[in-house]
Amino acid sequence: MSDKTTKTIMEPRLITLHDCDFSTYIFEEEIIARINILAEQIDQEYAGKNPLFLAVLNGSFMFAADLLKRVSIPCEISFIRLSSYQDMQSTGKVKEVLGLTEDVSGRHIVVLEDIVDTGHTVNNLLHQLAERNPASVEIATLLMKPECLQHELNIKYVAKSIPNDFVVGYGLDYNGLGRNLRDIYKIVS
Ligand code: 5GP
Repeated sequence: MSDKTTKTIMEPRLITLHDCDFSTYIFEEEIIARINILAEQIDQEYAGKNPLFLAVLNGSFMFAADLLKRVSIPCEISFIRLSSYQDMQSTGKVKEVLGLTEDVSGRHIVVLEDIVDTGHTVNNLLHQLAERNPASVEIATLLMKPECLQHELNIKYVAKSIPNDFVVGYGLDYNGLGRNLRDIYKIVS
């Protein structure tokens, strides 16, 4: 790829979703490079363990797909739902886990999240999973906002930590829009 091409790809872009403007923030190339690192770590740490990845829908679908393509050890994936976010404010209300039909007892679980903000979602999910006696549970998240965390959580795999900005793209939405974007955008304040 020539310098000229790279420069063209990396130029900031502005988009409008509903009533908000967003600007490019983390480009696809960086996302994939960071996911490659996570996949290598997981390959090493879960060899021989047949991990069960639990991807939390909707936001983690792109992260889950790109990560799983790069994990080369035998593994399984299932998709669950558990959401607490409406508009741009975390409600703190967490729903039950939906769609977990697998018997997770004795399994090594890796939860795949799009973003950890307050940590309410992951904290609640960890409690619900613990009741099902898995062998281990770790969290892999694409993004994390350490400033916002309200729980003592040990998040083992974080592709990137970011400040407290509202972001969209690469699976993350703003009221339904933006999930299809290849790059991550942040709100223009
Ligand atoms: P938490 O429970 O950690 O506060 O929030 C986790 C969920 O809130 C994420 O799975 C995601 O759906 C949503 N969320 C948190 N921060 C953002 C953000 O900056 N952008 C978007 N689109 N969703 C977010």
